[in-house]
Amino acid sequence: MGSKGDNVAVCNMKLERLLSMKGGKGQDSYANNSQAQAMHARSMLHLLEETLDNVHLNSSANPSPFTAVDLGCSSGANTIHIIDFIVKHISKRFDTARIDPPEFTAFFSDLPNNDFNTLFQLLPPLVSNSCMEECLAADGNRSYFVAGVPGSFYRRLFPARTIDIFHSAFSLHWLSQVPESVTDRRSAAYNRGRVFIHGAGEKIATAYKRQFQADLAEFLRARAAEVKRGGAMFLVCLGRTSVDPTDQGGAGLLFGTHFQDAWDDLVSEGLVAAEKRDGFNIPVYAPSLQDFKEVVEADGSFTIEKLVVYKGGSPLVVSEPDDASEVGRAFASSCRSVAGVLVEAHIGEELSNELFSRVERRATSHAKDVLVNLQFFHIVASLSFT
Ligand code: SAH
Repeated sequence: MGSKGDNVAVCNMKLERLLSMKGGKGQDSYANNSQAQAMHARSMLHLLEETLDNVHLNSSANPSPFTAVDLGCSSGANTIHIIDFIVKHISKRFDTARIDPPEFTAFFSDLPNNDFNTLFQLLPPLVSNSCMEECLAADGNRSYFVAGVPGSFYRRLFPARTIDIFHSAFSLHWLSQVPESVTDRRSAAYNRGRVFIHGAGEKIATAYKRQFQADLAEFLRARAAEVKRGGAMFLVCLGRTSVDPTDQGGAGLLFGTHFQDAWDDLVSEGLVAAEKRDGFNIPVYAPSLQDFKEVVEADGSFTIEKLVVYKGGSPLVVSEPDDASEVGRAFASSCRSVAGVLVEAHIGEELSNELFSRVERRATSHAKDVLVNLQFFHIVASLSFT
């Protein structure tokens, strides 16, 4: 075993230069650990449809392309399915309205460290222009142009008034940064002994909530400039049902129990210094409906068509629910696919392996509880821009 992890150079590298889900197609990759997100997204398609039905269709003779964006696309197939769904649904609407459809463009956007290569390799081939219409309904083909857009969605990403529909799933709960006070030893909001807001004190909760609301305000400001009049947004992020922000629900179980205990194991075994652990915090905040609504209303650019908390279910996909070790493995893989990159940047790969093997061991010995109680709720927002 190497150092105590304090020699790994992370400094204050900005989160947006660092964060990504685990790339590639391996066991702990996001591409391989996002089937549950796919299922949750599928169960919400009727809500997405409602939003798409509100989008204005341009009937002018030479329309600009119909442009859809997926923000926080990551590197699995989920984003491609969603964009396919959007293009097909909007095409059908043009058909029904007997308007010649424009060409379609889709932008896949995420932070620069996202594994865009894996995503691009998953894209189906573009159909030729001549058979664009016949092929629209055919699966396995793509009837839209694509581009990847690297950058934080908390800032401007597109030219003004160029986007018809913004979609974002399971991404807006990622904060732009860990609130500074939470890892500042001199601050009253120092999150001593903990790596997440779940179960922390009130001052820590306030710091996380403020960060979330400030970030969401920036997000809305940027999108309000980019969306076309008559356009819309469909946003889904982790949410919570409790009014108390220190009860983070499913996110709390994922990052605040076995993951937390595994960090404590490394500290008590002398592998990681306590302060090193305390310098790590997960930059995630699952908002309540109220937290979310306050920001949209204060911004005032978008009309709320729908804003609900939706029960998504478990983030784990297991074939043998009675097999505790499979449940433990799924829990650890799921946790590592989303937080692994940050952990490795903080303590290095070797200690990260140690950490996640303890996460797995702990989750295995609580398999029943993990299966029953690890449930995700999502905030679903359908917003229109007039
Ligand atoms: N939408 C996908 C992936 C969700 S994973 C799906 O449905 O499966 C969350 C994604 O949000 C990650 O890829 C992460 O890199 C991205 N993300 C987090 N913060 C971001 C930010 N500030 N700007 C852009 N993307 C961000």
